[in-house]
Amino acid sequence: MRLTGRLFFAAISMCSLPCATATAQAVAFTWDDLPAHSALPPGQTRLEIAQSILKAMKDKNLPPAYGFVNGSFMEHEPGTESVLKAWRAAGLPLGNHTWSHMNLNNSPVEAWEQDLQKNEPLLREYATGADWHWLRYPNLAEGHDEKRTEARAFLKTQGYHIASVTMSFGDYAWNTPYARCVQTHDEAAIANLEASYLKAADETITYTRSASKAVFGHDIPYVLLMHVGALDAKLLPGLLALYQQRGFRFITLEEAESDPFYASDRNIVPEANPATFEAAAATKGIKLPPHPALPKMDDLCQ
Ligand SMILES: [Zn+2]
Repeated sequence: MRLTGRLFFAAISMCSLPCATATAQAVAFTWDDLPAHSALPPGQTRLEIAQSILKAMKDKNLPPAYGFVNGSFMEHEPGTESVLKAWRAAGLPLGNHTWSHMNLNNSPVEAWEQDLQKNEPLLREYATGADWHWLRYPNLAEGHDEKRTEARAFLKTQGYHIASVTMSFGDYAWNTPYARCVQTHDEAAIANLEASYLKAADETITYTRSASKAVFGHDIPYVLLMHVGALDAKLLPGLLALYQQRGFRFITLEEAESDPFYASDRNIVPEANPATFEAAAATKGIKLPPHPALPKMDDLCQ
């Protein structure tokens, strides 16, 4: 929410300088692939990873962050429902990421809709008392043309909101090489991964803010895509400190998506453009610079 008029001055007068809450840009952290994302390093459990993430967010007083669930991951790794229980015990909400992480771009829309609904019984079970009708598209794949419109119309009839993503530094890409390097005890490689992870996050903040300013002339509240991976958990205290150093305050997904930019995803307008800066820029004929690229990590610790 942006403050205007009397409300803005009321907020200014209530806080001592510097008053970060009235002026800082805002970001909602959101977490995908619960309960089991990417490779698990030896000696760690899924629950320990989740608990590290929950602790880091609690230490920085983050408001409740959504965790988007794939039920099939619990079939592949029995016992990991403990992650969902820990998430809910910490007071954080869960959302739908489809049962099998089905990519809508590569699947018939009917099969995708069934996969989405297959995930709902466990959300009903674990997310009681919270609004779990938020969808994060697997691979952010929304489908194209008629398929896209059909899927969105379906989501609307089912009472969902779409959890947009407006900031992503590709955090997921570090977790598999990190697990390999833990396995091989390559401390130098791990240090390089940690440095490149935080560098990518920093460069992506710069890119995303400049994209927002190019399209709108100001910051909008951002929704950051994260994953419940082992390196994500290890580096989260540093990542949250980076966001604070860059002047961010932390908000909920609902707060971020109350901005008009997200209205077509929050309320689901079936024919609307995706809520991305790239789509908004294309609509306005604005050319954005390329998004920061991922470093090459495929050969690391092989
Ligand atoms: Zn995912």
